[in-house]
Amino acid sequence: MSTEPILRVALPVPLSRLFDYRPPAGGALPAVGARVRVPFGRRRLTGLVMSHAAGSELPPERLKRAEAVLDERALLDDDALWLVQFAADYYHHPVGESVATALPAVLRQGEALHPTATVCRATADGGNADIDALERRAPKQAELLRHLLDAGDDGVLHAQLDDMLANWRRAYAALRDKGLATSEERRASDRRPPVELDATPGPDLNDAQRDAVDAVRAADGFGAFVLDGVTGSGKTEVYLHLIADCIARGEQALVLVPEIGLTPQLVARFRERLGVDPELLHSGLTDTARLAAWRRARSGQATVVVGTRSAVFVPLACPGLVVVDEEHDPSFKQQDGLRYSARDLAIARAKRAGVPAVLGSATPTLEMLKHCRDDNYRHLRLPARAGGAEAPVIRLVDTVRHAADDGLSDPVRQAMRSHLDAGGQVLVFLNRRGFAPTLICSACGHVAGCRRCDARLTVHASAGQLRCHHCGAQRPLDPHCEECGEAVRPLGAGTERLEDTLRAAFPARTVTRIDSDSVQRRGAMDDALAAATAGSAEILVGTQMLSKGHHFPQLTLVCVVNADQGLFGTDFRADERMAQSIIQVAGRAGREQRRGEVLIQTAFPAHPFWRRLLDGGYVGVSADALAEREATHWPPFSRLALIRASAHRRQDAHAFLVVARGLAAGLGGDRLDVLGPVDAVMARKAGRYRAQLLLRSGDRAALHTALRALRPALEDDPAARRVRWSVDVDPIELY
Ligand code: ADP
Ligand code: ZN
Repeated sequence: MSTEPILRVALPVPLSRLFDYRPPAGGALPAVGARVRVPFGRRRLTGLVMSHAAGSELPPERLKRAEAVLDERALLDDDALWLVQFAADYYHHPVGESVATALPAVLRQGEALHPTATVCRATADGGNADIDALERRAPKQAELLRHLLDAGDDGVLHAQLDDMLANWRRAYAALRDKGLATSEERRASDRRPPVELDATPGPDLNDAQRDAVDAVRAADGFGAFVLDGVTGSGKTEVYLHLIADCIARGEQALVLVPEIGLTPQLVARFRERLGVDPELLHSGLTDTARLAAWRRARSGQATVVVGTRSAVFVPLACPGLVVVDEEHDPSFKQQDGLRYSARDLAIARAKRAGVPAVLGSATPTLEMLKHCRDDNYRHLRLPARAGGAEAPVIRLVDTVRHAADDGLSDPVRQAMRSHLDAGGQVLVFLNRRGFAPTLICSACGHVAGCRRCDARLTVHASAGQLRCHHCGAQRPLDPHCEECGEAVRPLGAGTERLEDTLRAAFPARTVTRIDSDSVQRRGAMDDALAAATAGSAEILVGTQMLSKGHHFPQLTLVCVVNADQGLFGTDFRADERMAQSIIQVAGRAGREQRRGEVLIQTAFPAHPFWRRLLDGGYVGVSADALAEREATHWPPFSRLALIRASAHRRQDAHAFLVVARGLAAGLGGDRLDVLGPVDAVMARKAGRYRAQLLLRSGDRAALHTALRALRPALEDDPAARRVRWSVDVDPIELY
């Protein structure tokens, strides 16, 4: 009888269980947290050892051996492993797929943590060579040798030489034959070129900022702090002080931000103020760069790690602080696979590590506000703008009284003119990209629709295309109706059309558009933001990409072109979302000396939402919305999980959800509401029919108990074979 331990391995397959393997023959037992390569059916998979066990339920003859150990030591430490397991349990997602989400792509694929690379360096003879003599005979060889001598013992990667010196290989062969240069395989080094930076002192904190910093400093171990500060109130200054403390203690700070677009300004500020180069972790990096950043975070070498959503999983050797900037931003919630909230995992992680979590926003979510009300989290308020800037004045423009020709009403045009003449910059906000959202036939009224989705096609005039914003389908823009052959015309305006309107209305001004179409080219976003920050872009037009977190010093006027899109939303979060998006974009105006102004075009100025927002600001809207959610039993006063299913045939999606409904009702008893199944709001997307079942409970434990049994039961149900399905815990989109 063997006493060999069993490895319990997480594998990237859509099943909520671990798989048992015997350790590889000979050699050391792979550590918990290390990767192994295992046979799985006819495939080979890379998995992570989650634990060791004394035995297995499988009969010994069916237990296979792992084939190889990929990490000498644990890749994920206890805390990182705990977080992945927690995420898998909480979001009821297969643990192996959760592990895959948490790891950088190259590690997921089984590559080494420290890949080796070929490095070229000068030999001792190379160091003593007469370079000037060499220069006259073989200039290329001399040039290469100089590069190698500059790099010293570190040498230069072959991959880098490809960029530095065209056709360097012939010169290298000659140097090598003379014994002046050599190459060797080396492990990737984590050393970064040293940066010599001095931390520059920032402004003295005002009283509210000081109180916030002191409150976090006073936390002994974990504490969650909602930093609720109006736009421009100096939240970033508060983070900077706390991060500086953290660095001084020799600990690491993890800062999560919603989008890469926000990082350049933030990183520049961190670098200048803290005197360290923050480590960046986001999807815009190459796989190699991302792995290197991940390693430096894991080893503790990176003191400040700034990253987007998935950075919440990065292992940290000695964490001291977690910051989530713009906590309300929906991009913190992953919308496929492991549907996690990076904000909520950040809090869980901070709690486990015993360090403070600071969640900043000018428009905190109702979830966070309720936690504050219940005294789970501390509410830290920064009620006024720092540095003396005043809050912007917000006014409504009634588009029924003032026709908005081509999107812009007269009062808006006039206000733009006067702000531009006074040297101010103007931001025109429209949350709809493309030229026009609809293409309609002027004769028969036919509207161009997507063949695979229940959706209209958006006109993209400069590309000469019709595009579906839901499935990505596109086709050429035809000036004739596909039904009757008469002339078609674009109806309504997107940012592309608005850009044309603005150029025509303000021919002497520079107009810069920022949306996901205009920033496709690498670096385009950085360029546009630099122009916007410097003020050389006089009129900015764009989508919510422009409204987030940016600081444009010259900006004094914000115009919201079509605010009515969100006014009649069916989602219970409609008011909260709408207030967040208006307050965030308004917050770009007048952040320095000149007071800002905000004009909002609406056809419904009497809608009660506007009174609440204009009189009470976000505080007013959120207080009303909280009361309403309490009365109607929606989150944060209840907990939701959404089960989605899609299939080629509508009845298959529904049949699966009917099974799910039966199981859920049996498991949840009367503490669980089971609502549906119903068609999704967009019932057909990319050729698949979509439906959903909503589970709601006032008792979080009851919901999770039901889901824990539901998930494996659904995995085994025959109805599951005809659908794609998923579980979304704490969904933020209900369709
Ligand atoms: P937020 O992150 O809340 O939008 P920031 O930290 O970016 O606000 O601060 C907004 C502006 O106010 C910045 O230009 C910042 O340098 C300035 N500022 C912040 N705190 C102070 C302070 N205590 N005194 C003077 N200026 C400040
Ligand atoms: Zn489509």
